[in-house]
Amino acid sequence: MQLLQQIVERLNHAVVLTDAERAIIYVNPAYERLTGYRSSEVIGIASLPGPLRRAGEQEEALYEQIWHALDTQRYWEGELWDRHANGSPYLKHMMVERIEDGAGNTSHYIAIFHNITEKNLAEEELERLLHYDPLTNLPNRLLFRNRLQHEFQVARRHRSHAGVILLNLDRFQQLNETFGYNTGDRLLKEIASRLEECIRSTDLVARQQERDERDPDLVSRMGGDDFAFILSEIRKPEDAALVAERLLNALAPPFVVDDEEIFVSASMGIAIYPQNATSSDELLHCAEKALFQTKASGPGSYRFFAEENNLSSAQRVRLETALRRGIQQQEFALHYQPQVDLATGRVSGVEALLRWPQSDGAMRSPAEFIPIAEDTGLIIPLGRWVLQQALADILAIEQQTAVSLRISVNLSARQFQHPSLLQEVAAALEHSGIDPARLELEITESMLMHHLDEARATMGKLRALGTRLAIDDFGTGYSSLAYLQEFPVNTLKIDRRFVSAPSNAQTSNCIVCAVIGLGHGLGLEVVAEGIESEAQLVGLQEASCDVGQGYHLGRPMPMEALITLLQDRAAD
Ligand code: C2E
Ligand code: MG
Ligand code: MG
Repeated sequence: MQLLQQIVERLNHAVVLTDAERAIIYVNPAYERLTGYRSSEVIGIASLPGPLRRAGEQEEALYEQIWHALDTQRYWEGELWDRHANGSPYLKHMMVERIEDGAGNTSHYIAIFHNITEKNLAEEELERLLHYDPLTNLPNRLLFRNRLQHEFQVARRHRSHAGVILLNLDRFQQLNETFGYNTGDRLLKEIASRLEECIRSTDLVARQQERDERDPDLVSRMGGDDFAFILSEIRKPEDAALVAERLLNALAPPFVVDDEEIFVSASMGIAIYPQNATSSDELLHCAEKALFQTKASGPGSYRFFAEENNLSSAQRVRLETALRRGIQQQEFALHYQPQVDLATGRVSGVEALLRWPQSDGAMRSPAEFIPIAEDTGLIIPLGRWVLQQALADILAIEQQTAVSLRISVNLSARQFQHPSLLQEVAAALEHSGIDPARLELEITESMLMHHLDEARATMGKLRALGTRLAIDDFGTGYSSLAYLQEFPVNTLKIDRRFVSAPSNAQTSNCIVCAVIGLGHGLGLEVVAEGIESEAQLVGLQEASCDVGQGYHLGRPMPMEALITLLQDRAAD
């Protein structure tokens, strides 16, 4: 017995012995060291297994559990918080056992515990290193993948949506080289915190009520200048677009780092479960592809993964061959969508929109084949045809209706950068003999941001030919307004997302009014795209928008239909 006592006294673990009524009858020296209480202070106190001073309320339930375990199984082991005599909390690992006498009655309780706070902190630190990015403190790729897998299972079980956005900063390497890597690191931190704020700021309360096992949206740094988002709450794919918009907006104001004012833009790819993928890896892969497409065709914006991005090489070759044949055999058609002067209600111009009628009578949408035409370079001969045909048509329309319309023609990125653009536009104008001021070429914001100086020079030369220039889909691309006044444009076309967005009508309304004001301030004409209702039309008229375009005012139609429409109007 003496030997046993010596061992217990020398143990580094605290040992407590109580009687059947749980009153302490013995503690060892390690107990005194670990808890700060002297043996004389605690003998006789009924305490086991609870601490002498409560560390918090949530423990009550735990003690119940422990007593219950002791009653039924005679043994409990686990971790719990306690307080040192000096008040500081610590985490202890404890084993408690109920001792019975020969007749099966409880005679004693014995507890052995030690302090594991340090060990716990070390584990937390390890967990942090393993799952978080040390620069930004955002979850890293590993945690992201775990969470995505979890999110995927939840979405599958609930038959709901889940989304992934991958975000890559544009020109980040260049920023690093310009400002140095230290500034680059600090910039990344600032960017991370804006992105995080953006994700957190959504209506948490409303979401919390609906959430069961779902976690909040997550932002992680995947490495370098790559960030990724899990959207766990989306009800429909468009919700992801709203998040993407919010992210673009959040990055728009300049960052001030080390006294430098730095403009940052980002490109995003979005993929949605269940539309795009059946596994979390596949979903990530789709988002990567969409990001790649955004980078290639219009950085500073976002793009959903679309099946046609995913065409197999055989399908691509087939589509390319069909395109080639279509161009040769002039299978393409142009439809014209009226642009209406909102002050007078008169049709003042039309936008030429490319159509590809198929042998089965279906109509292929430009959104489907223009990307392939871009990739293959076929957009150059196709675009040449569009320009020539549109100018010829507008003159034919004028002859038959005596209405002299303006014609808007879309240019794709590759056309805009092509060295022969100027020559082709000049040739088409000359060939038709039309007043160059009646031709408006539409380019998108993101096309301008590629090579700023070259873009400006090209625009200057096009203007010198006498044509007008419009920025199409304004508001969806690079949002630095600073550049706007430097570009020699005549027209801003507000993207239809702002004009006909019913979901956040209030916000888009503000945006539309602000863009109209901005455009007028810069002496530009403002066109609103995608007007789909009378209410939208009236709102735009009240906001002094110059020109409107949209299904409510007229769908894209063949030339013959347009002629009839103009003749009917003249007769009214
Ligand atoms: P965009 O230049 O922004 O053209 C407007 C698109 O919005 C057209 O789609 C038009 O049909 C559609 N739209 C017009 N009003 C409404 C409306 O009220 N509601 C809705 N929901 N949509 C409306 P479309 O014809 O499918 O053209 C898509 C895009 O393809 C065009 O966008 C343009 O970027 C490109 N595209 C079309 N034709 C050509 C072309 O000849 N050359 C080049 N390079 N691109 C073209
Ligand atoms: Mg357009
Ligand atoms: Mg547009």
